[in-house]
Amino acid sequence: MELLDGQLVSKTIKEGLKLKVGQLIAEGKKVPHLAAVLVGDNGASETYVGAKVKACAEIGYKSTLLRLEEDISESRLLGIIEELNNDIDVDGILVQLPLPKHISDEKVINTIHPSKDVDGFHPVNVGKMVQGLPTFISATPHGILLLLEHYKIDTKGKHAVVVGRSNIVGRPMSILLSSNTPTGNCTVTICHSHTRNLPEICREADIIVAALGKPGFVKADMVKKGAVIIDVGITRVPDAAKKSGFALKGDVKFDEVAPHSSYITPVPGGVGPMTIAALMKNTFMACEERSGGSLI
Ligand code: NDP
Repeated sequence: MELLDGQLVSKTIKEGLKLKVGQLIAEGKKVPHLAAVLVGDNGASETYVGAKVKACAEIGYKSTLLRLEEDISESRLLGIIEELNNDIDVDGILVQLPLPKHISDEKVINTIHPSKDVDGFHPVNVGKMVQGLPTFISATPHGILLLLEHYKIDTKGKHAVVVGRSNIVGRPMSILLSSNTPTGNCTVTICHSHTRNLPEICREADIIVAALGKPGFVKADMVKKGAVIIDVGITRVPDAAKKSGFALKGDVKFDEVAPHSSYITPVPGGVGPMTIAALMKNTFMACEERSGGSLI
């Protein structure tokens, strides 16, 4: 069993981007600028946005964090996004999800200009991703592909089982793994809460991507010997032994599944840091394109 060390790979990617930012500065060019929008005071969202802003600082990007009140109106939030769309200095916009119930995620995502949608959630970018056209690939699936690429994991012809069909993780992951690309060409089964015989389906998988948000859902008896295990889940579980009062748990029972696997991501330290690395790559791409590059 080999650990897929997202922390390490993410660090390598960020160091590469930092060198590129150094080159931009040396050439007197603009550095990438990410604007992050945080609505309300959800503890987990606060942590995720904080990590993204910190990554920007490490690499040398400019970042702006807009903290908005929980009770901000939807129209005011959409207005703020329009302002960011029109701000020529801003390359990428991310609105941390989930949003308060009175605000439509869909309207917010659709308001971000596709050229600044570094999370890759806008329907235009999703459509391009589905067609295999250059675009922003949503950060978590993109991060997973970067991890597979780094460890030279052969995906061609493999049976991948993706558990979870959300628009931000499961569904794009299933499309990317089935695409005709070096980290694709899998035969993919996508599972959800109505799937029957899920343990049997998982046992046939060469690659399992667990993205359902149910701690410890994937157990040893659901995993074929030598399978590659990608654990996307992050759930805060109360833990009195921790200073924070909670522990982060993945969707896979790591201790019992790891000995059956060929490769496995830990939680924390697997997919989480790769999501941030992918977001940073997308932000660089947005800046490059807006400065006259040719990627999108
Ligand atoms: P969602 O809640 O949006 O989607 C969960 C999916 O899992 C749904 O499709 C649901 O099915 C499916 N599901 C739920 N229960 C079961 C079950 N018992 N059997 C099979 N399928 C089930 O979650 P997200 O995709 O947003 O996130 C999933 C997990 O990944 C969460 O823990 C989240 O915190 C984490 N995450 C981690 C990131 C990272 O950077 N590491 C980034 C984003 C998310 P149905 O559609 O039928 O309801």
